[in-house]
Amino acid sequence: MQLIIAALLFLIALYVVPWLFGIVVMALGAYAFVVVAAGGVVLLIAVVIGIWHGVTLLRERSARKRASQAFELIAQRSQAEEAALEIERRRMDEIRAASEAAEAEKKEQLRVKRLVACVNCSSMITRGSMYCPVCGKPPVTV
Ligand SMILES: [Zn+2]
Repeated sequence: MQLIIAALLFLIALYVVPWLFGIVVMALGAYAFVVVAAGGVVLLIAVVIGIWHGVTLLRERSARKRASQAFELIAQRSQAEEAALEIERRRMDEIRAASEAAEAEKKEQLRVKRLVACVNCSSMITRGSMYCPVCGKPPVTV
């Protein structure tokens, strides 16, 4: 009932002052423009924030990826260095073992050279000994 009265009053006012319609339309247009502009600004801000967030996220992800790749590279390099060191160590061990073997061989040859067979019991005794430690007889050494 009140709405109908208000509408009737509005119609009467329009009939009495026709330029009021223009003012109302202009006010509605201005209101709509303000609403649309505010909505657009809010939307723009939201889009900008979203893009910025996405770019930041992408950059962080790529940085993390790069860091992990660098770590992997370092780990691989250190593993390779470790392997090279291990090979070098093994080679040094082999060289040392070979030189020790050569030394032992030389000592053994020297020891054998200093040994001589006893003429009585034919056991190996040191060259130049007075008595054979096995048979107790004086060996005739060459
Ligand atoms: Zn002997």
